[in-house]
Amino acid sequence: MSWELDGPVLLDLLEKQRIPIWSDRRGDHDPIVFGGGPVLTSNPEPLAPFFDVILLGDGEKLIPNFIEEILISRQLSRADRLIALTKIPGIYVPSLYEPQYSNDGKLIAVRPTNSNVPTSVAKQTWLGNTLSHSTVITPDSAWPNIHMVEVVRSCPELCRFCLASYLTLPFRSSSLEDGLIPAVEKGLSATKRLGLLGASVTQHPQFNDLLHWLDQDRFDDIRLSVSSVRASTVSSDMTKILAQHGCKSLTIAIESGSERMRRVVNKKLSEEEIFTAAQYAREGGLTALKLYGMVGLPSEDEVDIEATAELLLHLKEKNSRLRFNFGISTFVPKAHTPFQWNGLRPEAKKRIQLLSKLLRPKGINLRAESFGWSVIQTLLSRSDRRLAPVIAQVRGSHNTLGGWKQAYKAAFTQNDRLISETRLPPWEEIIHENWSTTRVLPWTHLEGPVKPEKLIQHHQEAFEEIFP
Ligand code: SF4
Repeated sequence: MSWELDGPVLLDLLEKQRIPIWSDRRGDHDPIVFGGGPVLTSNPEPLAPFFDVILLGDGEKLIPNFIEEILISRQLSRADRLIALTKIPGIYVPSLYEPQYSNDGKLIAVRPTNSNVPTSVAKQTWLGNTLSHSTVITPDSAWPNIHMVEVVRSCPELCRFCLASYLTLPFRSSSLEDGLIPAVEKGLSATKRLGLLGASVTQHPQFNDLLHWLDQDRFDDIRLSVSSVRASTVSSDMTKILAQHGCKSLTIAIESGSERMRRVVNKKLSEEEIFTAAQYAREGGLTALKLYGMVGLPSEDEVDIEATAELLLHLKEKNSRLRFNFGISTFVPKAHTPFQWNGLRPEAKKRIQLLSKLLRPKGINLRAESFGWSVIQTLLSRSDRRLAPVIAQVRGSHNTLGGWKQAYKAAFTQNDRLISETRLPPWEEIIHENWSTTRVLPWTHLEGPVKPEKLIQHHQEAFEEIFP
């Protein structure tokens, strides 16, 4: 699972397969339902009661051991099989852990229910020199007929809100000779569309070598796409090769036009680098620039929003031949990042409107993510298991913003008999409050790549930027 809002869809899928949605209702003859990916590795707790097993970390490392144990334990009862699976590092069996709450509904611990089960589970990291690539190429996928090749995993930049960086550290790159070239050759025997993937692909130490290798006559008709690039790594060679291979635009996440805000979030990007990247895009023959920004970041003020608008207008003025698209999202706190303790800011809604007012009339195409759904993302990203009955309520036609709010309100006002006798925390506390760094978090028993003390240090460094 790579997106929080897919939670209710998972339940629809289980129901369609006639599999009980609650793990505690499954018997020996039901399948073992397992999952993984960024959502479940960061905070699996809201979805934990629907899974028998959660794989924390990289599939390359986890799946072979998981399959082996599934085969070995075939003759055991379901309960014994699940206990046997907890021997494998990175395998989390939620039903063997019990959350404990104080009388006033605060989570105080999540403890194993069986002495043979470890008290915490650590995310597993693949350190091999090859990464993943598509194994099925079909017109019926979200990106039709594209062969996707993962160039890098994680990102060394450590922007303080960024799950793609913090949850997947350390930064790894696929070897050019043993990983990327064979993977590309294989895919290009089946399609003419190639996608280079990663949180920050151009930070691959040999990215330019890869581009030059792709720039040979036999690949002339290959259409190339790259995911977001880091502005400081863009070169004129790079934009030329991308344009020759059908790439129309360059995507750069600037987060904010305000220098101060970029320091707070640790985005090491200067205005000059953004302007130079735009210049290379134009000179290389690309026709558009896609920029991404965020509103509602900790400490952000309206003046920071105005700085973002100013930067975009200035960029457009200097590069009038480029089309500008600006995508805005609302800051959503993510587990295992230094901003996990910061709530979603209600001001974000108005700030999206302000940007829209400042930019749309000046010809900048602005695409904003729904503020309402960012609120629901925060709910899923910060809640504990007490949210599960709400998720069960909102599946199917109830999966609307109104449906979520109604289901939460109903569960808040009456204790839910299925999961716990403890009421849900107030909506405001989960969505908007800044939490103390001493708070027991729903994912405290799950170890990410960065130790909590280090996350606290990075959190404090951000606030030193705000209050020097
Ligand atoms: S540069 Fe992008 S991918 Fe890297 S940490 Fe920052 S936001 Fe995340």
